[in-house]
Amino acid sequence: MSRALRLGAIMLISAFIPALSEGRSEPLNLALPTENDAFFRGGGPDFYQHIIRDFKGVTTRPWQGGQYGFVRNPVETGGGLVYTRFHEGLDIKPVRRDARGEPLDEVRAIAEGTVVHVNLVPGYSNYGKYVVVEHVWDGSSYYSLYGHLASATVSRGAKVNRGEQLGLLGYTGDGLDQARAHVHLELNLLLGRNFESWHVAFFKSDPNRHGLYNGLNLTGIDIAGLYLALRKRPGLSIPEFLEQEDTFYKVTLPASPNFDLPRRYPWLLREGGSASAPAWEVSFNQAGVPLRITPASAAVTAPTLSYIRKRGGDYAGMTRGVIGGSGANARLTESGLRLMRLLTWPD
Ligand SMILES: [Zn+2]
Repeated sequence: MSRALRLGAIMLISAFIPALSEGRSEPLNLALPTENDAFFRGGGPDFYQHIIRDFKGVTTRPWQGGQYGFVRNPVETGGGLVYTRFHEGLDIKPVRRDARGEPLDEVRAIAEGTVVHVNLVPGYSNYGKYVVVEHVWDGSSYYSLYGHLASATVSRGAKVNRGEQLGLLGYTGDGLDQARAHVHLELNLLLGRNFESWHVAFFKSDPNRHGLYNGLNLTGIDIAGLYLALRKRPGLSIPEFLEQEDTFYKVTLPASPNFDLPRRYPWLLREGGSASAPAWEVSFNQAGVPLRITPASAAVTAPTLSYIRKRGGDYAGMTRGVIGGSGANARLTESGLRLMRLLTWPD
């Protein structure tokens, strides 16, 4: 057998075992959430809703600001323009409006799942009215989020099929108007089971009205990249997609019985793991999505930055404020430390 054939056979076997043990029946098949399919014809201004950018006294309306990633709040640095504000989803513009300009697009589930959260009070969230759908793929739960809706047509607990309507596209939430109506779409991992008590501990004056499905507890993967990767390679899984992402920093966490990320996403233990490690090192991409968990050899008493990729300039703008300082002085910021404690809360 050739090496390629042998590798193929091994991959086939390893793809087959989870299918047996975890009941995966269908490959990942994500629909777009509205009729707007310009994404697959190059994206750009036909797909993404623009943002309003005031930069150096000039106002522009770049559609690029609607993409996933570091696409907002440019700052001039010695190394050129750096976009310091992260956008965790896609802002998809409507394709239908009535005579008064009100958007008419249906917002639909990107895959089969269960509605786990519906927020109907715009003022309770930057997302305005939003719906969260839980999808179970290969035994792990992922959460698609649909923000700025005009209305929701589903309630919590509803089972929905791929393409089933969840609501109507709108412009609820801070800073939007009719012209900039869009659905904000995310696909997330859930960070902590004990989010609610963590939130009470750190944000007493700001009540959490969304249970586990507060945006702070959801970390959005590069869903645009995933749609494109699935077109090239149908059958790709999210663990395989994330395995291709680059590690930007690593944080070592104290051993804790509350560290449930590897139970929720066992594929993060890519080299396997022992239950008795004195600490765990979590690798994150630049967006703060966990990519890998490995046992660490030495114990720590608090989350500690153990690696960061070398880059010039202040790390805060490159890491959504999780890491601060520059060069050898890089460290977890106060909010970064808080976020890491969520992973093992109550610590
Ligand atoms: Zn958005």
